[in-house]
Amino acid sequence: MIIKKGIRRQIVLHYFLVVFIALLLIEVIFLIALRSYYYDTVYNHMVNHIRTANDFYQPFRLTSSDNVNQLSEMVRHFELYNTELQILNPAGQVLSTSTGFEIEQTIKTSDVTQALAGNTSRWIGKQQGTGQIVMAVSQSVSNGFENTYILRYVTSLEYVNDKLMKMTLFAVSIGAAVLAIVLAFSIGLANSIVKPLNNITTVSAQMAKGKFNVRIKGDYKYELGELSSTLNYMAQEIVRSNQVKDDFISSISHELRTPLTSIKGWSETLDSGGYDPEETKIGMQIISKETDRLIGLVEELLDFSKLQQNEMKLVKGIVNLRELLQEIMLNLWTKAEKKGVQIKLESDEKPIIYGDVNRLKQVFLNIVDNAVKFSHENGVINLYFAMEEKFVIVTVQDHGIGISDEHLRRVKDRFFQVNPLNGGTGLGLAITQQLVELHGGTMEMESELGHGTAVIVKLPLPEGKIPMAGGLENGEEDAAGPMA
Ligand code: ADP
Repeated sequence: MIIKKGIRRQIVLHYFLVVFIALLLIEVIFLIALRSYYYDTVYNHMVNHIRTANDFYQPFRLTSSDNVNQLSEMVRHFELYNTELQILNPAGQVLSTSTGFEIEQTIKTSDVTQALAGNTSRWIGKQQGTGQIVMAVSQSVSNGFENTYILRYVTSLEYVNDKLMKMTLFAVSIGAAVLAIVLAFSIGLANSIVKPLNNITTVSAQMAKGKFNVRIKGDYKYELGELSSTLNYMAQEIVRSNQVKDDFISSISHELRTPLTSIKGWSETLDSGGYDPEETKIGMQIISKETDRLIGLVEELLDFSKLQQNEMKLVKGIVNLRELLQEIMLNLWTKAEKKGVQIKLESDEKPIIYGDVNRLKQVFLNIVDNAVKFSHENGVINLYFAMEEKFVIVTVQDHGIGISDEHLRRVKDRFFQVNPLNGGTGLGLAITQQLVELHGGTMEMESELGHGTAVIVKLPLPEGKIPMAGGLENGEEDAAGPMA
């Protein structure tokens, strides 16, 4: 079977190789051990026999090597079942055999030479004449003076080798079966990885072409499951952000259109002439206000695009946060008063930080402006400072309409608005958050629908001692008209 290049082939090949090598090692060791066990058994059997033969040699003190009767008597006595017994003289000539065959050549195999040296050892090799593989074990017997004979037992290893061969075949076929199982298993495993991957690749290729409504189906496990859910999530997020962008375009068009319509209306009216100076003044004021609104809108968009491209540069200096918040309270006073909303600065601290005063003003103006915008009539907005070792925490707490959990997660997203009819672009908090982060701080929001919202801005204090200095005199700064 040919598997084309890829993970599948890698996995199958690795599994196969590892198991193959392991099996090969085990089988070789097993077969070597088996062979030596069988050979040892045969050898021990012969050695045990030969030792007893030696012990009982005494009655057969041969008087002369020519005594054929005595020799054959000895052969009969020491014979071993299934084994040929040869009696040799020290020169290696065969004097008598249990099979009765006469052997002409002298025998000089290692077992014989070892026997002459007084040792017992085995010799395995091809028997002359029959060509069979045999094992021979020899021992010299002597009556102490005159005659020395060598008892040589020769047994065929055919049977043992036959058995070993069968065992080898058996082991090899078991090995082959194991390999086949491993192969099937590894192909299965490889498929369980490769098939989902192929599926994921196909779907993500479609996504890459802009088809974001496709989803990776299939309940994959572990990393593949994570990969597919991440991709699905990505597609869903792209769809969502496209939707947000479309909403943005329609809301921005609306935002542009309202002041433009008003400006156009008033300029045409004034152009037609015939109005008294009072009416003309009102018209001009409206045109100016709407133009400001347009400028504000465009500036917000410019800021946003600068932040997006990392081109926002902070002009840093010493900033007195208390003064800054008081200025914002003054800025928003008219707007707050119209709703009867009170803005209260609740803490006495005068934190000084190192930052861009205009950008920080923009941050808190947006947050407090939102608080006013989403407060109920005659509501209260509380501003707090809390000092930490390295940070100052500014909290803007309103008791207005609040934000549901589902929306809270998204309010800081660009272009997101809970209700697009409220005006605005949905960029405010996105810009605010990025500006705070540019200052090395964080912005969190906590809210409960129907109960109000808290925006918590954490800004780093300058390194070293905590500056608590304030350029303002106590008393006068908190008295900001109805907001105090
Ligand atoms: P916008 O410039 O349109 O106000 P923001 O990013 O400032 O955009 O705010 C996004 C949305 O978050 C708002 O449309 C509003 O729904 C919600 N939001 C912000 N601040 C508050 C608040 N203090 N109380 C309730 N809703 C708020």
